[in-house]
Amino acid sequence: MSYKLFIPGPIAVSDKTLRAMAQPMIGHRSSDFVALYQSIQPALQALCYTQDPVYLSTSSAWGSMEGAVRNVTRKKVLNCMNGAFSDKWNDVSLRCGKPAGALKFEWGQPVDPEAVRRELATGAYDAITIIHNETSCGCMSDLGALMAVVREFPDVISIVDTVSSFSALPIKKDELGIDILITGSQKALALPPGLSLIATSQRARDRAAQVEGRGYYFDLLEFHKNHENGMTPSTPVIPLIYALKSKLEDINAEGLEKRYARHARLNQTVRDHLFAHGFKLFPREGFGSVTLNCFANTLNVDLVALNKTLKSKHGLVIDGGYGKLKGKTFRISNMGDETDETIAAMLKAFDAALAETPRQSVG
Ligand SMILES: *Cc1c(COP(=O)(O)O)cnc(C)c1O
Repeated sequence: MSYKLFIPGPIAVSDKTLRAMAQPMIGHRSSDFVALYQSIQPALQALCYTQDPVYLSTSSAWGSMEGAVRNVTRKKVLNCMNGAFSDKWNDVSLRCGKPAGALKFEWGQPVDPEAVRRELATGAYDAITIIHNETSCGCMSDLGALMAVVREFPDVISIVDTVSSFSALPIKKDELGIDILITGSQKALALPPGLSLIATSQRARDRAAQVEGRGYYFDLLEFHKNHENGMTPSTPVIPLIYALKSKLEDINAEGLEKRYARHARLNQTVRDHLFAHGFKLFPREGFGSVTLNCFANTLNVDLVALNKTLKSKHGLVIDGGYGKLKGKTFRISNMGDETDETIAAMLKAFDAALAETPRQSVG
């Protein structure tokens, strides 16, 4: 059965993108591959607002997230935690054998710049991880304010996850001073899963050169050496690179400003519509994500029943809450290729399904 995903990743992939993947293979050491790799660098750099190289990692985002910590942490990494993914990054850092500090906030609360300053001022840290858009609870932290604080500490290498916000709003890597900017393919970029992008500063590579135990697969210096020849360290997921090239063409055709405006508008459309039903946003006011909405289940809707109806009668799926928020919140994505029409159709289906879904007794 085919149905459309409105969960915050993986999200729906366009037919054009799927067709782009169905091309004959090329050798990853061939001049054809070098041409493909080099042809997409300018657009990737433009999307990251950076002069730095953007490496292509054949992995989901976690590979790059783990790799970044392994590459640049010499003393200790500070993990800013306000949801499932950022919490896990602390666990991953520890599993890599890195000393790691946990700067914790309630899920749905943004990362507080003042708390970051207090922690970094201890001098204990030389790396920090920040998730811009905590997909698990739909909370978007103020990256500008956070990076302004991080820039006060020149020894600290910044690693920023933009997996679910990349290309949906401007994230100006160089201007913000982000050392390592990471994104994945199956969320804001609307590609199938399996590819991750890592834009890396010279500062980060200088640090990596001083760190032992970087391994091979995610070694930034390996990425860089190969990048200079228009290649990747190992055989990359070539079909997804075709898909990425196609997507970059789509983004260019739409125009960045229009793309940003579309995400903001559709996000607000969904928000207003569900507010009218009496739902409330889960994250703190002013910090709701622009690529998804995470609603508190204030009407006590049976979310399993709702999703069952949505899927069977309307051919679409939303998310019934991540981890410990299952049943208590639900998430609706507006990232990728959504339009006023597709969002309107989804909301119409939502209304119909909601009308026939029982409320749960509280408690
Ligand atoms: C989905 C997600 C990840 C993990 O991505 P994988 O593709 O599963 O590795 C990391 N960070 C954020 C913010 C995400 O939304």
